[in-house]
Amino acid sequence: MTAHDQSQSSYDVIVVGSGAGAMTSALFAADQGLSVLIVEKSDKYGGTSAISGGGIWIPNNHYFAAIGGQDSPELSMQYLKAATGEHGDPQRLQAYLDNAAPMIKKLTASSHVRYAVAAKYPDYYPQLPGALPGGRTLDPELFDTSLLAEELPNLRKPSPSTLLMGRIAWTARDAHKAMARSFGWQWLIFKLMARYKLDFKWRRKSKYDRRAALGSSLVASLRRSLMDRNVPLWLNTDFQDVLLDGDRVCGIKVATGGKVLELKARRAVIFGSGGFEQNQTLREKYLPQPTRASWSATPPGNNTGAALEAGMHIGAATALMDWAWWAPTIAVPGEEKPRGVFAERAFPGAIVVNSLGRRFVNEAAPYLEFVDAMYQDNQKTDGRSVPSWVIFDGHFRHTYAMGPLMPAQVVPDSRLRKEWLNTVYWKADSLEALAMQIGVDAQGLANTVQKVNGYAQSGVDLDFERGANVFDRYYGDSNVKPNPCLAPLRKGPYYAMRLDAGDIGTKGGLLTNRHAQVVREDGQPIPGLYAIGNCSASVMGTSYPGAGGTLGPAMTFGYIAANHIASAVSAPASAKVRVLS
Ligand code: FAD
Repeated sequence: MTAHDQSQSSYDVIVVGSGAGAMTSALFAADQGLSVLIVEKSDKYGGTSAISGGGIWIPNNHYFAAIGGQDSPELSMQYLKAATGEHGDPQRLQAYLDNAAPMIKKLTASSHVRYAVAAKYPDYYPQLPGALPGGRTLDPELFDTSLLAEELPNLRKPSPSTLLMGRIAWTARDAHKAMARSFGWQWLIFKLMARYKLDFKWRRKSKYDRRAALGSSLVASLRRSLMDRNVPLWLNTDFQDVLLDGDRVCGIKVATGGKVLELKARRAVIFGSGGFEQNQTLREKYLPQPTRASWSATPPGNNTGAALEAGMHIGAATALMDWAWWAPTIAVPGEEKPRGVFAERAFPGAIVVNSLGRRFVNEAAPYLEFVDAMYQDNQKTDGRSVPSWVIFDGHFRHTYAMGPLMPAQVVPDSRLRKEWLNTVYWKADSLEALAMQIGVDAQGLANTVQKVNGYAQSGVDLDFERGANVFDRYYGDSNVKPNPCLAPLRKGPYYAMRLDAGDIGTKGGLLTNRHAQVVREDGQPIPGLYAIGNCSASVMGTSYPGAGGTLGPAMTFGYIAANHIASAVSAPASAKVRVLS
């Protein structure tokens, strides 16, 4: 366990959790002269944020403006209102729009955090008014992790699936170029590999790239910026409860190093400790069934909803408790968590069916809508869509990746791990034999494939309009005509992979106001308590407006919370402290 200095037990602000939102709030609080402590339950910092894509959805951002992009507060609000519908709180949405772009401008100007605009990454609902075909998602630049010095081993490691060849860092923009096989992609791969190989000095220390990308870059650059400010981060420190002074939250109780400590927060406590996705009991209580913590693509064991339960215990209101940031996942033996299937569903030639052999959704749909459709179909079909099956043929297998399977032209079946056959993927010479192996209705599957092969020829998916909008086509193969998301399945062998109804975090949590303060049922804030990220009910309601729709708000409300705390006239004098347990 990393030793931390426990001589100081009183701070202006205590932040619970070390995801990107939590660290952003700590950074902005420190920059306004407040003393800040971050406590983190795990022996690694960064949470799910560190293994994520690190993308942030920031409407009206300055990067897009700098390349001549056209966005505006009005257009962004029009889109957000349409996306969030009845679940959108106009005041919180306004606070988000007012603060997201200033937050990232200030953060990048005053820290090691660096972003670039993903100018062609479309909003997830291109059919809605105010949607843009690109420019609102920002993608982290690479970060040199040698700058983390002694804090490098404590950084949560990214999933190998996010690294080229399991070890080389690349931005989401580069990964997309390679996946979509856009012009010059082979040259790009060559350059990335050469850069990695020629870094002889770092090669002697580690087989992993010196650079971090995606969420790892975001978290590493935030951590380095907090080190510059001497903000302490205590690992292995488990938040257990809040301390109260009357009805005001004035500190927290933590377990660390075999002891229980009381830590005082003179100004405020900020909960940034993630959702409850790793708590099977809470999943069964709140989420649609069936549900499993093991289907979640988040790090196991940490985000168990401690802050949520502590907040509810002192009267906080909650919202959206039956929602998650859904994403289908594939379990891989030996890996600590399953892998999210974000992009590959849109590649031409893979279809998804229930055990009746029927499609039920546009496979290229955003991941939240995809799993939502799985649950809806599961209800309609009396339990036949959770899990579902992604089916593809030999041509797809040769050309494209799916989950942990690299294209066969790079890693043929003979070089796949033996234990993956019949656990990660199933394979047969005919569709009928494949259907038998996985318990899918063979006639249903044959009918579906026949239909889809016809759609591939005409380019029009008459059932689900796959490939009919700019978002679907973003992950399609631009070399495939007439529809980059549709190709026939007709070349054996045939393959199947199991898709679970997974998530990348829960969406419901403590209800907050436009200042990120936790509120009671009557809307009154609980003094001294703020919540950001997935332990708060999402400002996005049940929607996922674009890539970065979870981290963008987490960081923005982190910034808002820090500003609100710093602007309070004076710290309340602490009187008697009461521990709830
Ligand atoms: P976390 O980042 O999980 O941080 C919570 C921290 O709190 C953890 O470190 C945890 O250990 C700690 N903690 C929990 N309980 C306690 C306790 N009792 N005491 C102390 N500490 C505690 N979202 C995007 O917006 N853009 C993307 O590109 C993106 N890509 C993703 C890719 C993948 C593969 C995955 C899995 C997710 C992705 N997401 C993305 C989702 C995003 O990562 C999460 O929604 C986000 O990280 C949640 O942030 P958070 O701060 O709420 O939680």
